Amino acid sequence: TAAEPTQNLTDSPHYLAEALMKNGIKNMYGVVGIPVTDFARIAQGMGMRFIGMRHEEDAVNAAAAEGFLTGRPAVALTVSAPGFLNGLAALLEATENGYPVIMIGGSSTRHVVDMHEGEYEGLDQMNYAKAFCKESFRIDKIEDIPLAVARAMHIACSGRPGAVYIDFPDDAVAQTMDKDDAAAKLWVANNPAPAMPPAQSSIDDALKLLSEAKNPLMIVGKGAALAQAEDEIRAFVDKTDIPFQPMSMAKGLIPDDDPHCTASCRGLALRTADVVLVVGARLNWMLNFGQGKEWNPDVKFIQIDIDPAEMENARSIACPIVGDIKSAMTMLNAGLDKTPFKATSAWLGMLQADAQKNDEKFAARVNSGKVPMGHYDALGAIKKVYDKNKDLILTNEGANTLDDCRNIIDIYQPRHRLDCGTWGVMGCAVGYSIGAAVATGKPVLYIGGDSGFGFDGMEVEVACRYHLPITFVVLNNGGIYRGDFENLGDDGDPSPLTLTYDAHYEKMIEAFGGTGYYATTPDEVEQMVGEAVASGKPSFVHVQLADYAGKESGHISNLNPKPVVGPL
Ligand code: ADP
Ligand code: MG
Repeated sequence: TAAEPTQNLTDSPHYLAEALMKNGIKNMYGVVGIPVTDFARIAQGMGMRFIGMRHEEDAVNAAAAEGFLTGRPAVALTVSAPGFLNGLAALLEATENGYPVIMIGGSSTRHVVDMHEGEYEGLDQMNYAKAFCKESFRIDKIEDIPLAVARAMHIACSGRPGAVYIDFPDDAVAQTMDKDDAAAKLWVANNPAPAMPPAQSSIDDALKLLSEAKNPLMIVGKGAALAQAEDEIRAFVDKTDIPFQPMSMAKGLIPDDDPHCTASCRGLALRTADVVLVVGARLNWMLNFGQGKEWNPDVKFIQIDIDPAEMENARSIACPIVGDIKSAMTMLNAGLDKTPFKATSAWLGMLQADAQKNDEKFAARVNSGKVPMGHYDALGAIKKVYDKNKDLILTNEGANTLDDCRNIIDIYQPRHRLDCGTWGVMGCAVGYSIGAAVATGKPVLYIGGDSGFGFDGMEVEVACRYHLPITFVVLNNGGIYRGDFENLGDDGDPSPLTLTYDAHYEKMIEAFGGTGYYATTPDEVEQMVGEAVASGKPSFVHVQLADYAGKESGHISNLNPKPVVGPL
């Protein structure tokens, strides 16, 4: 029986919710069950927002999106073993991407689990989680709750941000503590994301190198978006005229239609730049590790990163700048008074001419006039809607749907694009959409392929239940990559790549009270997406593409080994 309120006690669920809220954590996304059902209920009653999701992976993705967008972690809540395991994939994705997030997993009675007696959903979750996040804790005593939350805040937010796991076993859930004692022991994590300015000498070296460059280029990555350094970065471009290449989730830090943006002349920019200032991007597979035929063989890199271990991960870096981007860019801006440099109009002009040529090619492709449509036709129509609604947060997943959308739809504001990220995962963007809508209150436009959407599509019910202003757009070509691969004989099984082409995805949202649309031409796409966005309500536009639209493995088919012997 519950303790009488006159006993002046608090219990672990109340105390944990209090500690989270005191640390500025507002939202929790999760799936309840044993032993955390009451924790969710109590936190909600105390003023936290609880968003009940349909799958734990999506809950972690939603919380991670909030972390990316706000810089403040949200909580993802899971039940024991299977629920916990469902959350782990997204927990590691958040860590790989550098999104701050705290996952709390209910777990089963410690000593029974530890003796392997066959406990209900018994799993040593704290140790399983270790490989999937920056740090993993277990609360064994109610007194440790403030410590767990403060440590989680510091570790999730500082350095390269990432995920923290807190294990919450049922025997800890059931503990109580004197209320006054508990209140006296609560604290707020002090400055969990401290400025970490780099050495002045590294800034001086960088400016010297830049001032000697013929073709300087800046690469802006999602670390700069996480650092919320758009003002400093824009000031640097204003002062130096340096052209910049935005990584996909850094789009909008400086608007994509800025004349310094090299998004449409990436090839030429990378091949010709001689000094490249990398701001919050890793020289990983997405940038060909900073070497090879994509790059000028004599290129020199200046790299700003908060994580010293990132330096020279794959090649030599002429000038490493270890520190946070906001501080580093502030120092670079200040240093320009002493060591000024300006990109030449010859260099900028050469890039802009190439960009214009490529833009014209793209413009022709988005107007093929063919029905059924290809990706470009549909995305060109959606671009028209986006350009009138620049406040929309865009979430994007798929293979061709991802590649083509990134190229076609310009972004104009910081942190307005969330996508498959560092690993190129599928099944992330519906969760991201929920988190983005909840965390910012802004309208969200999801654009996914029929395959990508299938991983997390059940979350449209969540969008409807919480009346979130999300428009889901699914580009359906009936398959993974595309839908026209041959089946195994006339009556045989479908190809491994095939999905249901004549599905009616828009009916899914209708089942939950949202509005569905079915579009087959660019005009219908523009009109229906426009109407859906304007409604501010959960809605779904199913866009029918040709089953032959798209290409296998999208833009990264080079990563897919082909069979060496025998036919497919
Ligand atoms: P992209 O995918 O856009 O190329 P990455 O995720 O590969 O970007 O790289 C982002 C980099 O930014 C990471 O190496 C991370 O350590 C770094 N980073 C994140 N936040 C900050 C910050 N506040 N200051 C400096 N570097 C940061
Ligand atoms: Mg598809």
